[in-house]
Amino acid sequence: MKFIVVTGGVMSGLGKGITAASIGRLLVDLGYRVVPIKIDPYINIDAGTMNPFQHGEVYVLKDGTEVDLDLGHYERFMGLELTGEHNITTGKIYRRVIEKERRGEYLGQTVQIIPHVTDEIKSWIREVAKKKDAEICLIEVGGTVGDIESMPFLEAIRQMRIEEKDGNFLLVHVTLVPLDAGGEQKTKPTQHSVKELRELGLYPDIIVGRCKEKLKDSTKKKIALFCDVEKEAVISNEDCDIYEVPLKFREEKLDEVILKKLRLEKRERKTEWEEFVKKMRELKEEVDIAIVGKYVDVKDAYLSIREALKHAGVHLGCKVNFAWIDSEKLENSNEVELNYDGILIPGGFGKRGAEGKIMAIRYAREKNIPFLGICFGFQLAVVEFSRNVCGIRNASSSELSESGECVIDLLPEQKQIKELGGTMRLGEIEVTIKPGTIAHKLYGKEKVFERHRHRYEVNPEYIPKLESKGLVFSGWSDSKRRMEILELPTHRFFFATQFHPEFKSRPLFPSPPFRGFLESAFGYRKERRDGKI
Ligand code: GLN
Repeated sequence: MKFIVVTGGVMSGLGKGITAASIGRLLVDLGYRVVPIKIDPYINIDAGTMNPFQHGEVYVLKDGTEVDLDLGHYERFMGLELTGEHNITTGKIYRRVIEKERRGEYLGQTVQIIPHVTDEIKSWIREVAKKKDAEICLIEVGGTVGDIESMPFLEAIRQMRIEEKDGNFLLVHVTLVPLDAGGEQKTKPTQHSVKELRELGLYPDIIVGRCKEKLKDSTKKKIALFCDVEKEAVISNEDCDIYEVPLKFREEKLDEVILKKLRLEKRERKTEWEEFVKKMRELKEEVDIAIVGKYVDVKDAYLSIREALKHAGVHLGCKVNFAWIDSEKLENSNEVELNYDGILIPGGFGKRGAEGKIMAIRYAREKNIPFLGICFGFQLAVVEFSRNVCGIRNASSSELSESGECVIDLLPEQKQIKELGGTMRLGEIEVTIKPGTIAHKLYGKEKVFERHRHRYEVNPEYIPKLESKGLVFSGWSDSKRRMEILELPTHRFFFATQFHPEFKSRPLFPSPPFRGFLESAFGYRKERRDGKI
């Protein structure tokens, strides 16, 4: 078994996750079985309780584990389906250690960070890599070298390096190479962060320098000299679209350096990623999509949705232009004016901005503008339709108001539960699709598996009324107790899902609802351009 560890220095947000995912892609392209593990040094057990304002989106895995968005990059780049075991947090490790201690498994010893916590970290990594039959285990340590929280993890990595045979272990350090006022590439921050690593007993084999531009030869030389790595092992990573990164790395011969250092053979290379990027570079058309949400100021809050739209866009030959619309501002404006080719309402929680989203849905429905609703967007589409088509003026969701008619409500068993943690319906669940519907046309089958993250449901009492007015529930689960997809056959494209299709979209396999939505949006744009409407 080979191990590649990715650490980061200087500052957070350098794209360490993309670097790890891109290294994974290079190796997957070469036919290697790569098993990624993300270490998040925070104390939380998982990302489920984390606020998107602070952390970007919460990504949901197949088994329902709520994780950091980097796991989404891994799945998209490497074409994998991961589970909770691929994400280690301080909370998870300490929970294991404390449980063992309570069971008396430490036989009266004093339980300490070294060796008990570090042993637990190492055995977690090795167990997962072995169980998943990895040829290469790729480990990303979140945070920045020097953070107090990451210390036990880096210590565990240091021990692993000693325990593993020569040639089985590789450390890739990602740092920042800023430009000074005169445009010169500065290496001092890299030197300092490597020094910090060394103080912890870790020595980088490869340094990836994040920079606005390509690293100059002289910069590489300097980093190589001061940080004690070969010049070939200093890899330039200039700003570019994330999907370009694996190709840029190949231009830098990073794959060859890795194979050489890990003593692995060169295998025949797959070219599908390259073809995808080539298509992405040659997009001739454009499409303007409005995303109406609460977290629009946070770049990563709707990351998977953005990527899913990009995947569908490349598939269609269209560059997607995003307009991020603040639902709260919309709510406080007198008139809705959303002049876009398509309107998307993403998932969300709570009252704030919800009425603005409902206004946007009404606008899309009445003006026959392509609409895609996801999770909260699905639920609010039901509220909007109930109010403005079925005439239930005070229709609402019990998440927003208890006083109106709750067309969206908790199921009886969920009303019993009082606390918030762990009560969501999470992960991949089978959805049945009604033949002859738009959903059926998009998916091309009657059973699909999609990922969920919600508490509320369409209230079954109102389904006959909604359907009598033309709304079609074209997908359901749980023996029809829960509605999963809605559509309006009379509309250009009015489609919403209780689940989150964005989590299963891959560059090479765009998600069907996103594809359908974007196709319709592009058609609408062309009609408008050609003056047909
Ligand atoms: N707040 C809604 C629920 O809990 C929708 C959740 C979401 O959009 N992810 O059901």
